[in-house]
Amino acid sequence: MPPHEKASRSLSPFPTGPGESEVEKSLRPRNTSEFVGQRVTMEKLRIFVQAARGRGEALDHVLLYGPPGLGKTTLAHIIAEEMGTTLRATSGPVIERKDDLAAILTELQAGDVLFIDEIHRLNRVVEECLYPALEDRKIDILIGDGPHAKSIKLDLQPFTLVGATTRAGMLGGPLRTRFGITLRLEFYSPTELETIVRRSAGILGVPVEGDGPRLIAARSRGTPRIANRLLRRVRDIAEVRHQGTVDEPVAAEALGLLEVDELGLDGQDRAFLQALIEKFGGGPTGLNTLAVALSEDEETLVDVVEPFLIQAGLLARTPRGRSATPAAYRHLGLPVPPPPTADGDIFAENP
Ligand code: ADP
Repeated sequence: MPPHEKASRSLSPFPTGPGESEVEKSLRPRNTSEFVGQRVTMEKLRIFVQAARGRGEALDHVLLYGPPGLGKTTLAHIIAEEMGTTLRATSGPVIERKDDLAAILTELQAGDVLFIDEIHRLNRVVEECLYPALEDRKIDILIGDGPHAKSIKLDLQPFTLVGATTRAGMLGGPLRTRFGITLRLEFYSPTELETIVRRSAGILGVPVEGDGPRLIAARSRGTPRIANRLLRRVRDIAEVRHQGTVDEPVAAEALGLLEVDELGLDGQDRAFLQALIEKFGGGPTGLNTLAVALSEDEETLVDVVEPFLIQAGLLARTPRGRSATPAAYRHLGLPVPPPPTADGDIFAENP
């Protein structure tokens, strides 16, 4: 099961349902000036868009990668907006057969942006069918059935594929190399997240005061989707228990109730570190062993739990497996074990 169909915790970086998608749409930045952070990526993108527009061409195909909730879908919309074209959105698992892809591609108008979310989950047959479309703007389709079936080549309109994936490594080489532009989204700084929380509060009409937004931002695991979700949960608590204003004491109380600690970890993150330390002596431990111990699937651990733990310096991913860093012991209030004698893996801090 893909992680987003499972993760419903308040710190899940995936959308949790149709209701949330609607709210997200209203909070989504619509152009580059509303988009907060990702300075280097945005700078490159602005140049490529301007150059393509100047030449009157479709933008080269773009691959966006990075953990969920960092703005890949938002950027795909912004690319279409800035190119002055229309976005057609779909996702890897939805395109099951060659015919589905052919239908999507042949309906594209000149210059359109086709957004394929979770592009690493395209099946191989569909993926191979995509290659000539990306390279030569042609697609083979089969007319008729059985022995009389005939393959014909159709020309496509110039279009831009924007593919999004949580892990570029999961994309096969042949597909990866067909993207002219590859952009990696990074976790956001607390200051950038505070700007996002304040902007969202303004759109949602949530009164904020003092350091309330700063506190929410600091605990959002570097992820705008989580920042927006925590803001909405904190607002609920502010409205029911207080007068509705999100100030620092109210935010602190609400985040405590949501079991989000000062680093932004929730129960699932702490359970992960605890299992690694208490059951496996801090590692190195294989991913599958951890997944079994936690009754979690590996994909969820890799996409949802690990990236932020690594970023926060609590977890090291080594060729021999996952290791807890001394900071992880300290964060859980556990004694840091003495330095290892053999290979130093346990104390390998993140690069
Ligand atoms: P992804 O596709 O990477 O999972 P999304 O583009 O759906 O992430 O972003 C999730 C939500 O986070 C968006 O609805 C938007 O409200 C917010 N968001 C993402 N990036 C930014 C940003 N740079 N500035 C402001 N809000 C953002």
